Amino acid sequence: MKKSFIIANWKMNPRTLKEAKNLFNSVKKGIKSSKGIEVIVSPPFIYLPLLGREKSKIKLASQNIFWEENGAFTGEISPLMLKNLGVEYAIVGHSERRALGETDAMINKKIRLALKLKLKPILCLANFVQLKKSLKGISEKIILAYEPVFSIGTGKPCSVKKAKEIRKKIKYPLVLYGGSVNSQNAESYLKEGGFQGLLIGGASLNAKEFVKIVNLIREIK
Ligand code: PEP
Repeated sequence: MKKSFIIANWKMNPRTLKEAKNLFNSVKKGIKSSKGIEVIVSPPFIYLPLLGREKSKIKLASQNIFWEENGAFTGEISPLMLKNLGVEYAIVGHSERRALGETDAMINKKIRLALKLKLKPILCLANFVQLKKSLKGISEKIILAYEPVFSIGTGKPCSVKKAKEIRKKIKYPLVLYGGSVNSQNAESYLKEGGFQGLLIGGASLNAKEFVKIVNLIREIK
């Protein structure tokens, strides 16, 4: 049985460490079993060390990384530091970062360093040009997340029919869907769409809703 990946992207939320701990613990308590599912929480950087201390099967991901291991890069976070904290995954190339100026060339360097350090990258992309450019010269298979920009944080999910067509064209083993996923539409992207998991933003900030999605996906396995 192949694993499905369910990733919670908390973005720049919640406001306090206390709320972050509460959200994490509610998710932890609510998930009946993670058999067949890799549940990954991606909080803001500063919550990672504290959530990493909570005993749990939930894995952690960073929302970004820098492309150098260390040095004079004020304000950046090295993937080596994350790896040393016990973080297993790193989201790279999220559309909200691309909108702030992140390029495919930068993303390519980030993926290369993550792979070198054995931090598993999750590459977000919205089209085939980004796929080609971000993975230029990289043959190792990583996790991809197809996230059409019009559906990220808008409440307008991509239709399963359209998402399925795109999934078929992405000749890659692990592709997740992301964009306005909720407990009503989650199952269909896996069952009908052919995706191997979900990247969930807004709905992951509601523990009940996120747990419902994880438990639903676990049941269809
Ligand atoms: C995301 O953050 O990658 C995302 C898909 O957000 P949302 O689920 O809120 O659309």
